[in-house]
Amino acid sequence: MTHSRIRSPEGAPSGYITSLSVADDGRPRRLAVLGATGSIGVSALRVAAEHPDRYVVVALAGATNVALLAEQAAAFRPRALAVLDAARAKALRALLPAGYAPDILTGPEGYAAMAGAADVDVVVSAIVGAAGLGPTLAAVAAGKVVALANKESLVLAGDLIRETAAATGAVILPVDSEHNALFQALGGPGLPDLPLVEKLVLTASGGPFRRKPREELDRATPAMALDHPTWSMGPKISVDSATLMNKGLEVIEACRLYGLPVAMVDVVVHPQSIVHSLAQLHDGSLLAHLGPADMRVAIAYCLGYPARLPLSVSRVDLVTLGSLTFEAPREADFPCLGLARRALEAGPSHTVVLNAANEAAVALFLAGRLPFMGIPLAIAAALDAHAGQPVPDAATIMDLDARVRRETAAWAEVRA
Ligand code: NAD
Ligand code: MG
Repeated sequence: MTHSRIRSPEGAPSGYITSLSVADDGRPRRLAVLGATGSIGVSALRVAAEHPDRYVVVALAGATNVALLAEQAAAFRPRALAVLDAARAKALRALLPAGYAPDILTGPEGYAAMAGAADVDVVVSAIVGAAGLGPTLAAVAAGKVVALANKESLVLAGDLIRETAAATGAVILPVDSEHNALFQALGGPGLPDLPLVEKLVLTASGGPFRRKPREELDRATPAMALDHPTWSMGPKISVDSATLMNKGLEVIEACRLYGLPVAMVDVVVHPQSIVHSLAQLHDGSLLAHLGPADMRVAIAYCLGYPARLPLSVSRVDLVTLGSLTFEAPREADFPCLGLARRALEAGPSHTVVLNAANEAAVALFLAGRLPFMGIPLAIAAALDAHAGQPVPDAATIMDLDARVRRETAAWAEVRA
């Protein structure tokens, strides 16, 4: 069954959520979890463990944390594992239980092979950053159901992923809580076509610096940026939440998922992180999804889709909460949101530049080599220097990504 959930305005590119055709024959789904040792990966495995009759974990990939990967492998006994390099593969092998000898793949080729393997039904794409693009594309090229957490893939290679999914029948289900909320609120297959959506409203927690005066932002340290008020996440996305770049990347993600222009995606700060996003329809209705700030809800919806399986997350107690509040983002003090919109409007190579400069700048900030407010400056400098270019394939995208990372490092060096 194929449904177009939102009718895009004339001339807008079509979105990714066009095919929701996921077979549900009751047989256990075979999962590959890439980025298994990260925040999303660990949550995905908790969901899988809650329904052992429905999910079989056949493949697990991490990068460097071989101790955790070995623990996960001992618990789920997947057929294949993957790590960053041969030395880690050796260390991992030594930690596995006697008598259990899975294939151990390595490096980008290993991750891609795992994502496209014939015995995998659903790929959880949860590697952080541009490193997630190759395996995501491999999963899409193999026509898999992709539970997509790696939003950077859509920021780097939106057109390529859409075209490949259209050719292979891959189904992309958004794990990112905002996009998953929209997916849940707007319904699934079997419903009649929904009325026109006027706009999508992405909620943002505002991050740890929501109320911090502008002059104090210059002195924000990595420890302060990593101390997120409502979500527990990996370091890169935590810094992105503090700068509001996470919301900027999510605006791009929403436009590309649904085929909408940037003017149709709003951002509102909602510090309680209970309303995960809303769709405003042309009769004034707002359809929202509410739930605990726990990524297992979104992950479980993708893994079980179209079934909705029970889940042991905490329940939202509205009376205890008392109030839900909303406010406008402080865009002048958090320029990353505007930079993301600017890149989206400028063209597909500009979003590659945005993402690469951001990843490089976040790494420099975490290493103590760039102040917090240097992050938007670095990204603006990279966008200013970029004239635009075609980005027809993954190799061109990754070349541009590498070049911008080098240029951002050089920019920071001169500035220091
Ligand atoms: P994390 O840092 O906790 O985990 C990252 C995972 O990627 C780890 O398993 C790590 O081993 C692996 N990895 C890192 N570099 C790699 C490389 N070069 N090659 C292969 N694997 C590599 O990150 P996270 O918070 O779990 O986020 C993962 C992705 O999900 C990101 O794209 C993030 O934007 C997205 N996401 C996360 C959350 C969340 O709540 N954590 C919410 C929405 C979206
Ligand atoms: Mg999100």
